[in-house]
Amino acid sequence: DLQGSFTLNNGVEMPYFGLGVYLAETGGEVEQAVHWALEAGYRHIDTASIYRNEAGVGKALSESNVPRDEVFITTKVWNADQGFQSTLDAFQASMDRLQLDYLDLYLIHWPVAGKYKETWKALEQLYRDGKVRAIGVSNFMIQHLKDVMDGAEVVPMVNQMEFHPYLIRTDLREFCQQHHIQYEAWSPLMQGKAFDLPELKALADKYGKNIAQVLLRWDLQKGVITIPKSTKQHRIVANSDIFDFEISPEDVAQLDAMDRDQRFGPDPDNFDF
Ligand code: NAD
Repeated sequence: DLQGSFTLNNGVEMPYFGLGVYLAETGGEVEQAVHWALEAGYRHIDTASIYRNEAGVGKALSESNVPRDEVFITTKVWNADQGFQSTLDAFQASMDRLQLDYLDLYLIHWPVAGKYKETWKALEQLYRDGKVRAIGVSNFMIQHLKDVMDGAEVVPMVNQMEFHPYLIRTDLREFCQQHHIQYEAWSPLMQGKAFDLPELKALADKYGKNIAQVLLRWDLQKGVITIPKSTKQHRIVANSDIFDFEISPEDVAQLDAMDRDQRFGPDPDNFDF
């Protein structure tokens, strides 16, 4: 069901289906999207300080009548804020914008070379202090994960990565599984490009579903948390309508076979922002 969850390595339940709000603007758009999502039963919102919409997310949450402890909120420390004290400061600034007194998940947005280990120490401190229920990373490849875990007190609970049938990253997902790091998909709909793929259309027709629903259902069947983005009410509602069908093992295998190691977003091994 829409509010189902996976259990993180510290026992926290993370709803496996959420709303992504990248490029949704504060001042109406993001507030509406969060409102519609909560109304449709979503209980998980994914934002980041670089999206510049935490204030809008916070406003929508404060205006909703969903109890705080029933919603799971993720935000992320931006690259320019990495380092120990600067991360602690960035966290507080995010919390002020979100109008929250605790966070559910704080992620290191990208593995900034020479910085992310200090950043991780700050996340460990925030976790120890009870300000955040879970901490994790995003865009961390195997070598980044090994490096950040070397000497760490806390194993990351989540790794949020670009993930869709063109980019499955089996080695990384297996590594995460072995270390009980929950895999989470960003751009699960290929940033909209999935809608142009005829093989996905054929599969969707077979199940009487649309392409988004098939991809999002596939995420869950693969044990991957997913956070599709939309700001349109009908799509927010339709994207979550994935709990009344199951993709057969053969069709899961067909989706898996589309893998071609193709990114639509930046390369975690070579980014310059
Ligand atoms: P996405 O794959 O979720 O695709 C979103 C696009 O698909 C939008 O243009 C939307 O209008 C369109 N769309 C959504 N539902 C549709 C439907 N049913 N029919 C037709 N079109 C539809 O892309 P995304 O926004 O890049 O990724 C989702 C979320 O992941 C983001 O909002 C953000 O929260 C997160 N994210 C994280 C990182 C990171 O580095 N950690 C990077 C990118 C995105």
